[in-house]
Amino acid sequence: MTAFGELPVLDASRCTRCGDCVEVCPTDCMALAAAGPWLPRPRDCVSCSACALVCPTDALKMPGAEHVEPIQ
Ligand code: SF4
Ligand code: SF4
Repeated sequence: MTAFGELPVLDASRCTRCGDCVEVCPTDCMALAAAGPWLPRPRDCVSCSACALVCPTDALKMPGAEHVEPIQ
């Protein structure tokens, strides 16, 4: 949890280490390690969900995102 909201959560079993999430992160708070992305600068995360949205294998989720109603 940051001032902006929740941090993304990784399901490492689904991650192919493609790096798309790291590339798309607007605040550069994410980095790629052997097991997948991690957050060396978690306080810089603005909970924008871009990393989760760009992930081709659904390996990243924003906690609570399933409770958000779609905009009509
Ligand atoms: S975009 Fe998804 S599959 Fe690619 S490195 Fe990030 S978490 Fe892993
Ligand atoms: S939620 Fe946004 S700011 Fe946070 S790690 Fe993902 S892309 Fe970066």
